[in-house]
Amino acid sequence: MCGIIGYIGKKDAFPILISGLKRMEYRGYDSYGFCVLKDKETPFLYKKTGKISEAEETLLDFKVEGSLGIGHSRWATHGGVTDANAHPHFDCHKNIFVVHNGIIENYKELKEKLIEEGHTFVSQTDTEVLPHLIEKYFEGNLEEAVRKALKDVRGTYGILVTSNADPDKIVAARFSSPLILGLGKDEFLVASDPAALITHTRQIIHLEDNELAILKPNKFFILKEKAPTFITWDSEEAEKKGYAHFMLKEIMESPETIQNATRGRLIIEDGSVKLGGLDSVSEQLKQIKRLVLVACGTANYAARIGKYMIEEYAGIPVEVDVASEFRYRSPILDKTTAAVFVSQSGETADTLAAMREMKKKGLLTIGITNVVGSSQARETDAGVYTRSGPEIAVASTKAFLGQLSTLAMLTVYLGRQRGMDVTEGKKIVSELLRLPGLAEKTLERAPEIEKIAEKYQNFKNFWFMGRKYHFPIALEGALKLKEISYIHAEGSAGGELKHGPLALIDENIPVVALCPDSPIYDKMISNLEEVVARKGKLIIIATEGDKQIKELTEDVIYIPKTLDLLTPILSTIPLYLFAYYIAVLLGRDVDKPRNLAKSVTVE
Ligand code: GLU
Repeated sequence: MCGIIGYIGKKDAFPILISGLKRMEYRGYDSYGFCVLKDKETPFLYKKTGKISEAEETLLDFKVEGSLGIGHSRWATHGGVTDANAHPHFDCHKNIFVVHNGIIENYKELKEKLIEEGHTFVSQTDTEVLPHLIEKYFEGNLEEAVRKALKDVRGTYGILVTSNADPDKIVAARFSSPLILGLGKDEFLVASDPAALITHTRQIIHLEDNELAILKPNKFFILKEKAPTFITWDSEEAEKKGYAHFMLKEIMESPETIQNATRGRLIIEDGSVKLGGLDSVSEQLKQIKRLVLVACGTANYAARIGKYMIEEYAGIPVEVDVASEFRYRSPILDKTTAAVFVSQSGETADTLAAMREMKKKGLLTIGITNVVGSSQARETDAGVYTRSGPEIAVASTKAFLGQLSTLAMLTVYLGRQRGMDVTEGKKIVSELLRLPGLAEKTLERAPEIEKIAEKYQNFKNFWFMGRKYHFPIALEGALKLKEISYIHAEGSAGGELKHGPLALIDENIPVVALCPDSPIYDKMISNLEEVVARKGKLIIIATEGDKQIKELTEDVIYIPKTLDLLTPILSTIPLYLFAYYIAVLLGRDVDKPRNLAKSVTVE
């Protein structure tokens, strides 16, 4: 999360902007910038990479006049750390200036359209679409143009906008990024953090989502917008982008899903992560002694993997439960426990009910959600967006990968607050950076997987099996297959085979086994031998270079090598493709399987 500051009043804005940004600098930024307006003169615009505290003296020498200005300290998410990418951003005529905190998720489409309409872009940021959109709609009234522009936008934002074309005002708007107004005597300030305001005033107003504030030298007012709808996709067909089904398109989007989840959040040098949505509760999280992760369906399997990750690398005991159980049982909780809720839509009824119950009990609640502005995102104390983009197929695929990537980052976040050292942090963070490329390589296996699906399409039962990080993946693989192909499939931990499931194994029940390279590889091999001994058929997910595995079956799907805790992010991809191809071969309605709905908003 970046720092935003705006000033309008009687004093010189520039030094106030500098000191405001400095006060917010503790979060660590990569660049900063200002725009100060004075009468109808050419605006003073200055933006630079680096730290504002180190440049303060030079800046103050500039002697900038003007009592209206906006400032920004950036934490890059889209586009490298360059002067041009620093904020404020401006329109084609350098007449409308915008600072922005957040991410414009649909910036690519907007940018393409604006370029077609003749706009010229000078940065690589998502933010730059905002001044151009505002320019497009501007007819003399700035707030009106901002209002219209924001209707086209999907994502999160806290923005300040100013222009000499409609002088003497700052327009502020927010959605899911904080903005606070400071009311002084003959002056108004606006900032993303109260720390930037306290030296000027103690009277503040928290701007709410969908509100737009207009600050003038001697008055301000706030407009409340109707909540926007987030589903801005065109026709179904248009969005399939040539794929036969949304599900296939979404599986193929795995690499960018991982990249979007981690974008701007990995701090390699420091072996840590930056999760702006947790800033407000980071001190509280340091005190937490236990976590409960609550979710339904696929998200619940993500949570189970999250448990293994967090316990192994952050050393915090974690309990996982399905929301429908958690809300009705009597869990033992105290204030040293934080509850984490995982839901793609952020509207899952059971998860929301469990979350509200925990809030009533006074527990710290954290949300891991894909949909910006969803009930879960609004009601939890803090949270992290998975940024997976719209998922249309009922059966969740890419959203699961977004959740796993986010849980891996949460693990580093919590770990680095505790015993995890820089080296360990670096290892995980650098590997997360490599992961989209590895997912790309995994997807290249699609034609082989399709062939294996052809071979196995007529079996009536499947068994999925894995150990440790791959036990929940076995459950997820089985769930996906049954959801979309209606074939009976179950999953278990490898070690559980002898405790029952082995009785089922014969040539009629293929076993899909997750056996990538890991510290418990040998244990898994023993389980596979047990299957082979009973004439069971094996489909194995293994690590590239594993020659021994071919002795067990000819149906091996190879995935690239990565860290143990991140392997599930890759090993899920072949299981998704396998389920997909079988469902297609059986003529199922892949994107809308019978009896199921996307966001389960009923109990
Ligand atoms: N997404 C914007 C960028 O990359 C804003 C990032 C921020 O919040 O600092 O420039």
